[in-house]
Amino acid sequence: MSFNIDEITGILKQQIEGYEQTIDIAEVGTVVSVGDGIARVYGLEKVAYLELLSLPHDVYGIALNLEEDSVGVVLLGEVSKIKEGDTVKRTRRIIEVPVGDAMLGRVVDSLGRAIDGKGPIDTSEANPVERIAPGVVYRQPVNEPLQTGIKAIDAMIPIGRGQRELIIGDRQTGKTAIAIDTIINQKGKDVICIYVAVGQKQSTIAQVVKTLEENGALSYTVIVAAAAAEPATMQYLAPFSGCAIGEHFRDKGQHVLCIYDDLSKHAAAYREISLLLRRPPGREAFPGDVFFLHSRLLERAAKMRESYVIVKEGAADDVTTGVDGEVYHGVPGHEAAEAKIKELGGGHEMRVLPGTGGSLTALPVIETQAGDISTYIPTNVISITDGQIFLETDLFHSGIRPAINAGLSVSRVGGNAQIGAMRKVAGTLRLELAQFRELQAFAQFGSDLDKSTQAQLNRGHRLQELLKQPQYTPLEVESQVFIIFAGTHGYLDSIPVEKIGDFERKLTEFIQGSHPQILETLRAEKKLSDELAEQIKAAIGDFSERFKATLEG
Ligand code: ATP
Ligand code: MG
Repeated sequence: MSFNIDEITGILKQQIEGYEQTIDIAEVGTVVSVGDGIARVYGLEKVAYLELLSLPHDVYGIALNLEEDSVGVVLLGEVSKIKEGDTVKRTRRIIEVPVGDAMLGRVVDSLGRAIDGKGPIDTSEANPVERIAPGVVYRQPVNEPLQTGIKAIDAMIPIGRGQRELIIGDRQTGKTAIAIDTIINQKGKDVICIYVAVGQKQSTIAQVVKTLEENGALSYTVIVAAAAAEPATMQYLAPFSGCAIGEHFRDKGQHVLCIYDDLSKHAAAYREISLLLRRPPGREAFPGDVFFLHSRLLERAAKMRESYVIVKEGAADDVTTGVDGEVYHGVPGHEAAEAKIKELGGGHEMRVLPGTGGSLTALPVIETQAGDISTYIPTNVISITDGQIFLETDLFHSGIRPAINAGLSVSRVGGNAQIGAMRKVAGTLRLELAQFRELQAFAQFGSDLDKSTQAQLNRGHRLQELLKQPQYTPLEVESQVFIIFAGTHGYLDSIPVEKIGDFERKLTEFIQGSHPQILETLRAEKKLSDELAEQIKAAIGDFSERFKATLEG
């Protein structure tokens, strides 16, 4: 009997092709080893980075390590039921969280599931947890303030909508307090707040929820909680989920404030996952891509541009000509842009480039050890953000709260994050305070101080006192303008330091009671005209006379 070689190879080829169709190793894989919530999977050749994978027993996995012959997967769910040989399927989806108005006022886990006992969340929309940050053409420079209601911050380190400002300091220096006060201050300001708690104690998170509720701030806030007891994967996902929930509002043209409390613990959770995945440890045993982890999260904070219309050729007069004879009309809002097209009429070729004008502001928190901001994670996040609010243990314990170090704190976004009036009155405040702290250190040694140094110390003491603020008492920016005005124009120089808190409170009451029209004008115009400055001077002068009289009497 003789064989035809060609025939046999043909049959074999056919069978092999059929075999490949039944188990397509590009789409399906097998668990090779499992432990510590991590599985190594053979197969899944076409899997994408961060793709959601489906396993038996309703367990989900996220593909984190794409290696030559296997895929490293972190598991979510009842991990203990997964064993060697289990099948892993691709879903072709990046992991998602539910989003929408129904999320407001709720406490959810990293996957967006309610954990506040108020029942399931009724929403049909979802956003991928990881998303590419908007590119430069979709953004505009920061141009509106995000008021924290904290004098020291709004005056010296102003934050703008769409900005990323780091809150950094040792443990127990009032970092969370600043974040919570900022949320409380957004009441009635149409800013949605997202508070992401990573690696904190359950009791601390419960306290935050209670505080927000008591201050009427829960209704516009979403809390994403991944407590210290949660698996590292959930802690790693939490900030990304919070951001995805916020992006939904940002992309609808609303304003969002996202707080990540804190990214030190987030980095530690990511290190744990990476070490379990056997990635090579780098500096401080963190994986090499921990910078990328935080930069891709914080890049998603943005001030989105507003819609504008592009007109080609023969356009109306009130437009600026761009490249290729394209003419741009900046029009806020999509509907307004459509209306603009109608108004310009036919004859031109036009296009609306949609933009919502929404914003997402990020306030990441970092905990330092012994005030050292030069370790790996702090330097990373400092370099990613647009500035930092640096809190100091020494200041905190000497009663200067919020314990902001004026010299090391900065906001690099520029004056557009402040209303004109505040910019004018607070211009030199930060420098004055920083110089005061240095002088103070010197003045401890010498006794003979010249007049001007003494005056500088005198002023500094009072400004420092003026910027103290208890928790949960955010101040409207208009009232802040008055208070700072009094400080920087020398109205406090003759008031005893211990009476300054009293002065401030009574001044605020006096202005609200006797000069509400000045506050109104400030609110409407946001600028400090010479005329208004005269009115403010007169009002404060009047008040300080009365105040001094009560001191003497
Ligand atoms: P942790 O490192 O534990 O997260 P933290 O830096 O977030 O601490 P907070 O929890 O905000 O610090 O504050 C520490 C303590 O200081 C709290 O008891 C808080 O009530 C108090 N505190 C914070 N800010 C002020 C303030 N402006 N005035 C008075 N007390 C304050
Ligand atoms: Mg805290």
